[in-house]
Amino acid sequence: MRKWLFYPPPNTAVITHSPNYPARFHKNMRSFSSIWFGAICIFVLILVGVRFELLYERIAAVPATPGHPPTLVPVEPVQLPFTGPDATEPTSSFAATALRVIRDTLNYDDTIYHSLKRNKIGEAQILALNQALKDVFDTRSESHPGDHYILKIDTTGTIQHFSYTPEKTPERPVLIVRQTARLSAQRLQLPLETRLETIEVTIVDNLFNAISIAGENDVLTDRLTDDIFGAVIDFIVDPRVGDRMGVVFEKMYQNGRFIRYGRILLAHYQGRVVDQLAVYYEDAEKNWGYYDEKGQSVARPFLLQPLSYRRISSPFSRKRFHPVLKKNVPHLGVDYAASTGTKVWATARGYVTYAGRKGSYGKLVEIEHPNGYRTRYAHLSRIRVKKGQAVKQHAVIGNVGMTGRATGPHLHYELLKNGRHINPRNINRQAKGEPLQKRYLPDFIKQRDTHQALLRRPDNHQIHLADR
Ligand SMILES: [Zn+2]
Repeated sequence: MRKWLFYPPPNTAVITHSPNYPARFHKNMRSFSSIWFGAICIFVLILVGVRFELLYERIAAVPATPGHPPTLVPVEPVQLPFTGPDATEPTSSFAATALRVIRDTLNYDDTIYHSLKRNKIGEAQILALNQALKDVFDTRSESHPGDHYILKIDTTGTIQHFSYTPEKTPERPVLIVRQTARLSAQRLQLPLETRLETIEVTIVDNLFNAISIAGENDVLTDRLTDDIFGAVIDFIVDPRVGDRMGVVFEKMYQNGRFIRYGRILLAHYQGRVVDQLAVYYEDAEKNWGYYDEKGQSVARPFLLQPLSYRRISSPFSRKRFHPVLKKNVPHLGVDYAASTGTKVWATARGYVTYAGRKGSYGKLVEIEHPNGYRTRYAHLSRIRVKKGQAVKQHAVIGNVGMTGRATGPHLHYELLKNGRHINPRNINRQAKGEPLQKRYLPDFIKQRDTHQALLRRPDNHQIHLADR
């Protein structure tokens, strides 16, 4: 408040100094106004007091008023995608609004259609739902076992609400609501929380067990062994007991529930045979890759293995090279024992030159690569490429089987250079990784050091695990 609450305001001063008033009148006028001012103040105070009392009574009276509960919500609250464990059992109940609520989860080999039929939804309703669903969701490629939904139907059996949550991408549920005559669908994009985490493990028997003990699953290990270090570390022969691996990576959560791994930002394998750093870096043109401490790519034209390390049931060894099959024709290749159906990928980019049955090879894929290289993948149970097709490195080309001359399911893999067989293990011996563009190096080094420093934090929760 301003000064004139305590002193006469400017306009009052003009009046008091007016030559039309005698001095005495001035004096009387002053004492007169101070009495009035005091009286008004008291009156205002009383008024405020009464007002406050009334207000207080009104607040106290609210909950006591019958028939007017303060938070009555007559409409059903918006259902968030259901993620609780009881979603695995189909249940139904009657809601207060007389909508029947059905929750169900797709089983193995299940479809949304079969699930709706199982829950006795009418054919016309299923058709209408499918029509709406089609706009935002591909039921053939995007629905998987474990997906769950909540369906609400009214007493006439008409669908009023349908929310479908894919198990693998719960942040992208489908929401369908009835708008008078039609159902309208939308695909939501819910936020996921990204947490940066670190682990440091020591190999006792193998890396998969070490990472599992640290509380992470095989998906993370697969990405480390097959994707990041797939061309530079042979995880069958290189690891030794006591080798260490440190990883800085992202984990995505939804409402506190782990959904999937995000990016692996840094991985450092420190072993007796190999010491390899891999740092994730994405440049200004959105090209990304993994680089060693000097900023040279850890990728190579060839991967060391044509299938996941985790799927290989017996280790590579020179002894496992086949004995001579025919006179003077040595069997040159590597056999990987793995269960039927295991995915087989192209170790390098190239063109498929053969895809079909071929004698003792059984179902065979042959790929021609740049610089006179050729690879063969034999005994497949299934071929997933066609002759003439271009394939990228790591593209799935078939599945392990035992077609042709094979006593058990395994992959027979051959690598040839200019028609001569070579040991796939030695393919990258001399190869060097592509260096990062010079202009990105300072930024890369900053990121490398920031993420590497995370591994050496004293509060790293995995350090004591590794030291056990
Ligand atoms: Zn073989």
